Amino acid sequence: MGSHCESSVKIPPIKFTKLFINGNFVDSISGKTFDTIDPRTGEVITKVSLGDREDVDLAVKAARHAFDYGPWPRMSGSERGRMMMKFADLIEENAEEIAALDAVNGGKLFTLCKAIDIPGAARSLRYYAGAADKIHGTVLKMSKGLQGYTLREPIGVVGSIIPWNFPTIMFFMKAAPALAAGCTLVVKPAEQTPLSALYYAHLAKLAGIPDGVLNVVNGFGETAGAAISAHMDIDKVTFTGSTEVGRKIMAAAAASNLKPVSLELGGKSPLLIFDDADIDQAADIAFRGMFYNKGEICVASSRVYVQEGIYEKLVKKLVEKAKATVVGDPFDPQVNQGPQTDKKQFEKILSYIEHGKREGATLLTGGKHVGQKGYYIEPTIFTDVNEDMIITKEEIFGPVMSLMKFKTMEEAIKRANNTIYGLASGIITKNLNVANTVLRSIRAGVVWINCYTAFDVDCPYGGYKMSGFGRDFGLEALNQYLQIKSVVTPIHDSPWH
Ligand code: NAD
Repeated sequence: MGSHCESSVKIPPIKFTKLFINGNFVDSISGKTFDTIDPRTGEVITKVSLGDREDVDLAVKAARHAFDYGPWPRMSGSERGRMMMKFADLIEENAEEIAALDAVNGGKLFTLCKAIDIPGAARSLRYYAGAADKIHGTVLKMSKGLQGYTLREPIGVVGSIIPWNFPTIMFFMKAAPALAAGCTLVVKPAEQTPLSALYYAHLAKLAGIPDGVLNVVNGFGETAGAAISAHMDIDKVTFTGSTEVGRKIMAAAAASNLKPVSLELGGKSPLLIFDDADIDQAADIAFRGMFYNKGEICVASSRVYVQEGIYEKLVKKLVEKAKATVVGDPFDPQVNQGPQTDKKQFEKILSYIEHGKREGATLLTGGKHVGQKGYYIEPTIFTDVNEDMIITKEEIFGPVMSLMKFKTMEEAIKRANNTIYGLASGIITKNLNVANTVLRSIRAGVVWINCYTAFDVDCPYGGYKMSGFGRDFGLEALNQYLQIKSVVTPIHDSPWH
């Protein structure tokens, strides 16, 4: 295994730790706080206000008032867009500081946060800012004597419940289209990674976004999160996280005010590599597809199917890459893989690795935790795996790849689809006919051909099957925060009757 670098960088200054409700940072009603942890060491970074049901209530009241009476949904789209552009500028101006928060709170590589996540947030805001003044309905061709048209109106107060793996990207994946549509929001960041969300609340205020439009309530899922999904005054919930929690959110929404939900859930995504692939390129794509963000990525290429002609060579390359990976402090530019986000996730991944060994899979490389403290795990590759094994069926959400061999395209398609999930997939081949057949046969929300994890805000993204429904990103996402009102009026004495 590559080297391990111990933590050297100190915790950056933390400016915001309270709840953000109606334009102000406030303590929680109970006065309680919770510890937020540095996964490099397992030590406390700071205490953050702990929001519960009553705090969610206050935030919803603020968001409701801002929606029902405030200027945000009523101002022109271009005015909303102007403030969102300013918000994006402020994010870029503070990129260094925010990237440090995501790195220290989530164990994410500082340089990648600064180069990808933070600019991605600004790009999302600008993309939807540009769409805010292009939201319009259609003219209806109605029967004689009637004229009609549709209005596209903001859906109302949005509850956004987000996970810890991409605290910045997830925040704006939901907030940017909702803001452009004219909605107001209550965001609940994951309890593991609340720090950057609070910074964004502060920047939203500086950008001129009116009080009550963007509220942030930190807290746990079973309390603050559950209060959002069951709230009678929230008009829509958007969620990214586990399938199990997605189910609870949908049930709570159904049992309360029947609010629509969009769910982006787990995955166990297949990557199919055919014999004609360039082996170096295929190894690069497969390795990054799985081990990017220490495997804590819902689209991870965790099931890699390799055609038998290049299997041995590809396995060798992947093992070399795993062994060359430097696991360590995410602030160190030499490091390729930081710590897993929290202790629970760290233990869960190690227990899956034990499961894999017990099930008879061959551990080719990795499998152990690294260092004396913190939540570091070696990049791990299993072979001799089949679809009945738990490590191949369940989402591990950590740096663990299952490698499998196949003979024919038909076999590969069948095995790739043998999953309850359908979030993402990949194909590596130079043969257009193979690519076309596979891409149309795979039941997943995205198919990457000769690339993987190639995201852009213009590309809609979401699941088939138990990976959820609804789409983030693209203009598809904007539609999820709008609803249609039909307007009909009779025409009297029309000369065209
Ligand atoms: P989770 O689904 O429990 O948490 C995601 C968010 O949902 C957090 O903000 C959490 O506070 C909230 N939440 C939890 N319980 C809730 C409830 N009853 N009602 C409302 N909100 C609730 O995810 P986790 O426990 O942090 O991770 C567990 C597994 O989920 C991971 O191992 C991984 O498999 C999966 N996961 C997937 C994604 C993704 O991007 N699809 C992201 C994170 C985790």
